[in-house]
Amino acid sequence: MVKNTSRKKLVFATNNAHKLSEISAIVGDKFEILSLHNIDCFGDIPETAETLEGNALQKAEYVYNNYGLDCFADDTGLEVEALGGRPGVHTARYAFIDRYDPEANTEKLLEELDGKENRKARFRTVIAYIQGGEKHFFEGIVEGEIATEKRGTKGFGYDPVFIPEDTEQTFAELGVEIKNQISHRARAVAKLCEFLNEQEG
Ligand code: IMP
Repeated sequence: MVKNTSRKKLVFATNNAHKLSEISAIVGDKFEILSLHNIDCFGDIPETAETLEGNALQKAEYVYNNYGLDCFADDTGLEVEALGGRPGVHTARYAFIDRYDPEANTEKLLEELDGKENRKARFRTVIAYIQGGEKHFFEGIVEGEIATEKRGTKGFGYDPVFIPEDTEQTFAELGVEIKNQISHRARAVAKLCEFLNEQEG
């Protein structure tokens, strides 16, 4: 197949292969999505903000300022109503401040909610996109609740305990195909793609 080399290049500030293939599939062939490795960016990008918006912007700005390329970045948090919106921006390092331990994270969540009737929660993804120096934000939310125990084997992170609304199964039971149609990330990515496609006409 002949590769269309005139495609507009956009950097996605991630090296997560799953996220890259998900977004490349949604944007189609109008854009070429480059990862951090593709632009020879191997350093750790700081993520020190206290909000999802701040972290997403920090990552996108890092690439724009250092490489001069239009770039977008995402950040996701699990916001639990009975915990006042926690773990929120600290979702990845909820159990341990210095490392990512998904097993410990879900255990801690189940413990904190033990005996609580209100188990409402939502996943929220924010994408920050810097285009020619201008900032744009896109948000995707999936409402749901936290199960009382882990269920299912698919997915990652909190998937075994998150039940999206209008279903009775957890993300880990529903599987990636259904999840990608309704997830917080898919919804935010769809809004970004709509924006990009409108611009391209
Ligand atoms: P990130 O900003 O995409 O790295 O997400 C931060 C953290 O949120 C991840 O480390 C996971 O623990 C959690 N997370 C994000 N998206 C999902 C999801 O779709 N399912 C389960 N956990 C998720």
